[in-house]
Amino acid sequence: MNESFTPERLTFARNRAGLTRVALAREVGVAPRSLAYWEDGTHPPSDDSIAQLSTALDLPVSFFSAEPLEEVQADAVSFRALSKMSAVRRDAALASGAFAIELVHWLEERLHLPVVDVPTYARGAADPDTAAQRLRLEWELGYARIKNAVHLVEAHGVRVFSLPERLTEDVDAFSFWWQGTPYMLLNTRKSYERLRFDVMHELGHLVMHGDYDLPRGREREQEANRFAAAFLMPEADILAAGLRNAGAEKVVAAKHRWSVSAMALTHRLHELGVTTDWTYTSTCRRLSQLGYRSGEPDNAATPREASQLLEKVFGMLRERGIRPADIAASLHVHPSTLNDLLFGLVLTATTSAGQGPATSTVSSTRPALRVLPGAN
Ligand SMILES: [Zn+2]
Repeated sequence: MNESFTPERLTFARNRAGLTRVALAREVGVAPRSLAYWEDGTHPPSDDSIAQLSTALDLPVSFFSAEPLEEVQADAVSFRALSKMSAVRRDAALASGAFAIELVHWLEERLHLPVVDVPTYARGAADPDTAAQRLRLEWELGYARIKNAVHLVEAHGVRVFSLPERLTEDVDAFSFWWQGTPYMLLNTRKSYERLRFDVMHELGHLVMHGDYDLPRGREREQEANRFAAAFLMPEADILAAGLRNAGAEKVVAAKHRWSVSAMALTHRLHELGVTTDWTYTSTCRRLSQLGYRSGEPDNAATPREASQLLEKVFGMLRERGIRPADIAASLHVHPSTLNDLLFGLVLTATTSAGQGPATSTVSSTRPALRVLPGAN
């Protein structure tokens, strides 16, 4: 018998894997009733059973005896393509959110991460355009082009992570507040332009739909899109750009000024009345013909934005002899699970297992990490 077994962790791990009790029981060769007893805490599994659960659920044995995880609830998060996304995928994505929280707690014991400086505006007090304008003012951005959206939000305290690669087919980015800290999990398979737009869309949720007003439904999604467009393409800047009734070719040439997709610029021109309904429709049609519906054929080689903060964090930890494998062990997950959070965001940190001594002692000083929002 295992005295230190944590029943909540088993339920979490099972949901993360998208398995029913019956399916998991079959996989580890026990009766579904036994599994129910393990999960409701009636009695713990044997060490042998825990070893089998560990294999079936792709988590180390130690995972099942640690403190219960802080879990992100489905209704605290806005998923864009919920209708297309099964509950199984959603639970897996939410599990990534819980691991992100664990990792941030671990990091905050060792380093000073950027201070959270993301306001929340009461809904109704500010429409998306006003909210975007207000935030640009608060962050002293004027009408300047957003050089790097990921760096910008990281510099203001958003903890940015990645969705596991296996979920990127059907899960979009999502964000949530957790104990006063904003989190974003990005789909890093998107194009350079679309990833930037996603960052600003999620920022819109965090700012406008804060933790008191949970983002849900189509209307909130449209608000977040409008916020993203307004933040990346300020109205005054668009109006001054000489794009009245711009067609597809002109849009494609102009979009680089804001590093947005051709479609996003086309929508923005239309919603600001710079183009007529007729031009808007024909430009959309033409852009589709040119391949701009799902990507940016003229700019496919531009690398996606990556995390500056995580790169620095892992660099600093490496200097102290702390390898990604040590961090994963501290979090009671496999290194691959840690890698899932960094996929496409950190280029070098986790690729090598590291040769140095594994000293994961907590240093008495916690160095502060700064992110330069202007850096590219
Ligand atoms: Zn959304």
